[in-house]
Amino acid sequence: MPISMTINGKAIQAKEGMSVLDACWANGVSIPTLCHHPDLTPMGACRLCVVEVEKMRGLVASCTLPVSEGMVVHTETPKVVEERKFVLEMLLSDHPNDCMTCEADGNCELQNAVYQYQVPWKPHKGKTHSYPVDGDPNPFVFTDFNKCILCTRCVRACAEIQGRNVWGVANRGFRDKIVAGADVTMLEAGCESCGACAAYCPTGALTDKSSRGSGRAYQMKKVTTTCVYCGVGCQFDLNVKGGKVVKISSNAKAAVNGMALCVKGRYGYNFIHHKDRLTKPLIKKDGAFVESTWDEALTLVAQKFAEAKGDSFAVLASAKATNEENYLIQKFARAVMGTNSVDHCARL
Ligand code: SF4
Ligand code: SF4
Ligand code: SF4
Repeated sequence: MPISMTINGKAIQAKEGMSVLDACWANGVSIPTLCHHPDLTPMGACRLCVVEVEKMRGLVASCTLPVSEGMVVHTETPKVVEERKFVLEMLLSDHPNDCMTCEADGNCELQNAVYQYQVPWKPHKGKTHSYPVDGDPNPFVFTDFNKCILCTRCVRACAEIQGRNVWGVANRGFRDKIVAGADVTMLEAGCESCGACAAYCPTGALTDKSSRGSGRAYQMKKVTTTCVYCGVGCQFDLNVKGGKVVKISSNAKAAVNGMALCVKGRYGYNFIHHKDRLTKPLIKKDGAFVESTWDEALTLVAQKFAEAKGDSFAVLASAKATNEENYLIQKFARAVMGTNSVDHCARL
C-alpha cells in the first residue's frame, strides 16, 4: 500500500518501510547526510539529516524515521538549518583545517556540507584530538583519525559488506575513537585490505595509500571497466589522469559487486603501466623471441589460424574474460575456425 505524505508542501507517495530520508531522496528533495549511506544500516548518529515533522516534538533524524500515512515533513526550515550548522560547527571544532593538502579534498562529504551551509572553520581553544597520521602499517589503507567524524561508516562497511568486523568504537565521550580489534593494527584485527572502509569513509580519515598525491577527484576521468582478476566480473572505475590509471574507485552502480572489491581488484593495478610489460609483439624465430611489428604478428597469426581450420583447432575460454569476450571466442571457433571444440576453464 502506498503511503501518502507531504514533503515541503508537495504531496508525494512513498512505499511502506521507507525512511523519510529515502522518500525525500526518491522525490528529488536533497538532504545532507554524513553517517548515512544507502548500502549500510541506518544509524541516526550524525544528526545532519534532521527534519521537522508536524505533530512530532523536536527535530528528528530522517534516516531512521519510517514514513507514515499523512506525515507532513519540512526539510529546510530555519530551525533545521540552524541545527545542521551547529552539528557542522561541532565537527569542525575538532577537525584540522587541512583541506588544501588533504587527500579527500573535492571528494569529501564533510567539506561539501560545510560549503553548503557556509560554516566557517574557527580555531578551537578547547581540547582537541591528536592522533598519529598514517599510524597503521596497513599497506593499502592510509589512516588519519584526526579527520574522523565518528560516523561509523567504516565499522558498518567492514562488518556488513566485507564481513570482517575489523573496526569498532572504543571508549566513551570525548575519548571515543575508531579502533581496529582491541586497538591493534588493522592486519592483526583480521583486515583483508579490501579498502571498503576507505571507500565508504566520508572524509579523509581513511583513504587509499597507493594513490595518495596522484590527483584530485575532479582532475581524473573515470572509465568504468570489468576486473580481469577472476570470474566474478566486478566492475569499478579506472581513474585516469594524464593518460595513466592512477587509482581505482568503487562504482556504486556496479551490478555484480556494488561498492565492494577485493584487494586485487581495488589495489592491484600497478601492472597496467609497469615497465616490464610487453608493448610490442614478439615472434619466436630460431628458438628465440624477437620484437616484431603488429602487422607482421597479426599476419602470422592469421596464416597459422588458416592452416589449423577444422577439428585440429580448439579454444579454451576463460572465466577472467567478460561474457561478451567469451561469446566472441566461441563464435570465432564455430563460425571462422569450423570447430565445436570449445571449452571453458570454469566448466567443471
Ligand atoms: S577530511 Fe574533508 S573537511 Fe577534513 S581536511 Fe580533508 S577535505 Fe577538509
Ligand atoms: S580494508 Fe576491508 S577488511 Fe580491512 S578494515 Fe577496511 S573494510 Fe575491513
Ligand atoms: S574513519 Fe571515516 S568512516 Fe570511520 S568513523 Fe571516521 S569518518 Fe567515519
